[in-house]
Amino acid sequence: FERTFIAVKPDGVQRGLSHRNCGVMRCGNHSTTILQPPMRDAISEIISRFERKGYKLVGIKVVVPTKEFAGKHYHALKDKPFFNGLSEFLSSGPVVAMVWEGEGVITYGRKLIGATDPQKSEPGTIRGDLAVVVGRNIIHGSDGPETAKDEINLWFKPEELV
Ligand code: ATP
Ligand code: MG
Repeated sequence: FERTFIAVKPDGVQRGLSHRNCGVMRCGNHSTTILQPPMRDAISEIISRFERKGYKLVGIKVVVPTKEFAGKHYHALKDKPFFNGLSEFLSSGPVVAMVWEGEGVITYGRKLIGATDPQKSEPGTIRGDLAVVVGRNIIHGSDGPETAKDEINLWFKPEELV
């Protein structure tokens, strides 16, 4: 069966507990968390949507990645202007790393997630329903078979998967 790597990013975990969860890069004030409407973790919601579709969870753990590790995860974007901020953000708090399995899970998982920019994600998708800005789009999903394999190997040891 096909497998994909899915992660709930720090903005989807422990929402509202610290400044790092604010909807803007430098908030200076908790009141700006109003940009992230549901002030609760998105973990259960995200797991539910993959479960509901019929996919199978074969690995899960909570980790705070180092900035270096985050940079490895997003290495394909290393020349983008937002790469540094992106790596910093992914390493700013707990991430729920998961591997999901099932027919078409890589492509369909991306459909469940929605477009990169939550302003362009359709209602009904995870980002469409739960996120507002591109730099805080709460979830990651592998974009193809090669990246799925690489990302699963980066985040998980074989014995951590059932
Ligand atoms: P992900 O890889 O996190 O699942 P994606 O595949 O939809 O997202 P990518 O192009 O791989 O999109 O970008 C990785 C992440 O970089 C995005 O999820 C987003 O958080 C961030 N990002 C993308 N474009 C921008 C941008 N223009 N400005 C700021 N951050 C961005
Ligand atoms: Mg991507």
